[in-house]
Amino acid sequence: MIRQYELVESVKSYDTGADEDALNRAYVFSMKAHGSQLRASGDPYFSHPVEVAGILAKMKLDTASIITGLLHDTVEDTVATLADISDLFGDEIARLVDGVTKLSQIELQSDQSRQAENFRKLVLAMSEDIRVLLVKLADRLHNMRTLKYVKDEEKRQRIARETMDIYAPLAERIGIRDWKDELEDLAFRQLNPDAHVSVTTRLDFLRSSGGDVIGRVIEDLRKTQAEGGVKAEVTGREKTPYSIWRKMQKNNVGFEQLSDIMAFRIAVDSDQDCYRALGVIHNCYRVVPGRFKDYISIPKPNGYRSIHTGVIGPENQRIELQIRTHEMHEVAEYGVAAHWVYKQGRPETEGTQYRWLRQLLEILEHAAEPEEFLEHTKLEMFSDQVFCFSPKGDLYALPHGATPVDFAYAVHSEVGNRCVGSKINGRIVPLRTELHNGDQVDIITSKAQTPSPTWENFVVTGKARACIRRFVRSQQRDQYMSLGREIVAKTFRQEGYELTEKALKGVLKNFDCDQVDDLYAVVGEGQYTGREVLWAVFPGARKDRSQKVVPLTKARSKAGKDHAVPIRGLIPGMAVHFAGCCHPLPGERIVGIVATGKGVSIHTIDCETLESFADAPERWLDVSWDVGGNDDPFHVGRLHVLVNNEPGALGTISTVIGRDSGNITNLKIVHRSIDFFEMLIDIEVTDIKQLTDIMAALRATRVVNSVDRARG
Ligand code: MN
Repeated sequence: MIRQYELVESVKSYDTGADEDALNRAYVFSMKAHGSQLRASGDPYFSHPVEVAGILAKMKLDTASIITGLLHDTVEDTVATLADISDLFGDEIARLVDGVTKLSQIELQSDQSRQAENFRKLVLAMSEDIRVLLVKLADRLHNMRTLKYVKDEEKRQRIARETMDIYAPLAERIGIRDWKDELEDLAFRQLNPDAHVSVTTRLDFLRSSGGDVIGRVIEDLRKTQAEGGVKAEVTGREKTPYSIWRKMQKNNVGFEQLSDIMAFRIAVDSDQDCYRALGVIHNCYRVVPGRFKDYISIPKPNGYRSIHTGVIGPENQRIELQIRTHEMHEVAEYGVAAHWVYKQGRPETEGTQYRWLRQLLEILEHAAEPEEFLEHTKLEMFSDQVFCFSPKGDLYALPHGATPVDFAYAVHSEVGNRCVGSKINGRIVPLRTELHNGDQVDIITSKAQTPSPTWENFVVTGKARACIRRFVRSQQRDQYMSLGREIVAKTFRQEGYELTEKALKGVLKNFDCDQVDDLYAVVGEGQYTGREVLWAVFPGARKDRSQKVVPLTKARSKAGKDHAVPIRGLIPGMAVHFAGCCHPLPGERIVGIVATGKGVSIHTIDCETLESFADAPERWLDVSWDVGGNDDPFHVGRLHVLVNNEPGALGTISTVIGRDSGNITNLKIVHRSIDFFEMLIDIEVTDIKQLTDIMAALRATRVVNSVDRARG
């Protein structure tokens, strides 16, 4: 275990301004908090956070990261609270510790292996500060180093799988290759012990039989570079057992055929020297076709730069070579963190030492695989995403701002179509609630439910929107059809002609329709009138009509239910709209005006707007209320009220309205004077009778001066 002074000294060696006092306090705090807890290995638990801090110090990270490493398990595993940490070490540290704690908690929630990519994104999205991710990775690295002490085989397997699927790729994505290699190798050891043994045994054999092949190749490469006039540093190593194993699997080759198990690196001073060194190599050794890649000219998305090539080396063996500058090397080994290390020595303004964190975040955001770009539009990249769990632990990635309805449609379009409510983390919430990272979302469904057109106002995913629209469109068509059927039937009946399906079929092409239902739909939409259909079927009816047509009058609207189209069952907002000018209520005398392409808008018979349709009788439609069921929707009646300006007046009004079960949905003061308030009150009622009752009750109060229906 690293001792306190060793840790502090190692931080001070690269960061002279490190807060020594805070480091010491964090060390002692963590030791006391973990007390006598033990690790599976039998070591004091406290050794774990200290080792994690040591791993972070080796990466030359800032003091806050080191302290977070020391404290990272205190909130989760001891009596220490976030408030304690905030008091003792400040908000920044508390925020970092909280971030690591949250990452550790989501880890336990789900079987991630099936959805590794989403889970990696969740981790990234939750690590708002990249240092949270770095501490989490260091934590995982130390846990993997001590994995063998965990007794439960299943647990070891799970942790190793998770490391392979989630954490090693994350380490690679942020460019920390050392961590990636070690995480992979430790996981490989657990997941496939036989393969691990066979690869390492074979490597041992090659090593012993070939002698120091690597040493000899290095010597040779050094010599040729020197002769070529390039100042170069040459290193070489065996590839890791896991990367060899992967190559064997991928290329379907046996170990015997796998010759390039050695990788060499040539480090030079400048970009130009990289190409000169490459010239020397290709001049001296035979090139293996297809292995040359120039990542200096075109860097990898995570910032990696190097030239790769493969040649038949001095020992007549295929070898892989990477050529890069010393700085490129630092970046390749330590990720973007190296930029920071590099700039440490140079005088820069305050705060720039965190620039690499920002750069890293930027790179993370843009380092997507090409297929990922296809999968998600750029707008829906993980930085703009939110990740939520189903009750079973499945993980769903949704765009930022997504709601339970989006979630329901992401699960399955049927779940979306039938959703009536939702629970987030066990609590019932409105369907329009915005989801947050890590939320567990439980969708409540009902077979009787259908998508509401209003959902479209708050959903954000394309899928939800498309499903809702598709449903609304098909509903709309049904509505238009049934409305059109009523209109056609009414017209024929009124004019005294017999309506048969056969007759309609004969005139379909006049209306550019294939089926009778299509014809009904276009009439319902208002593209054609019932009379136009009648005249097509009975051309003689056109003449008869000249006497009969009169604008719809009050008298005619009394014609009775036989001729009227019942509007019950037509969903408001689709085929039927209640006019905003007169707020018609069930029980009132109403009339429909066919609006081309928009169905019918319903007005009260005395609405002034109707005057403008006086010379278009073909657009008037007899409609009647057909109410009485339990599922009658509420309608809004608007009252114009003049109230005395005195204490308690408003209270009296709302009490009176409430007593008659009216629900005030809006209240607007139009005008106020010393004596009176003039206001508009919108009240939800089931029919006109309820509203007139309320009006009568209001008039009976002392504070109300006058009450009228508000029009227009
Ligand atoms: Mn830990």
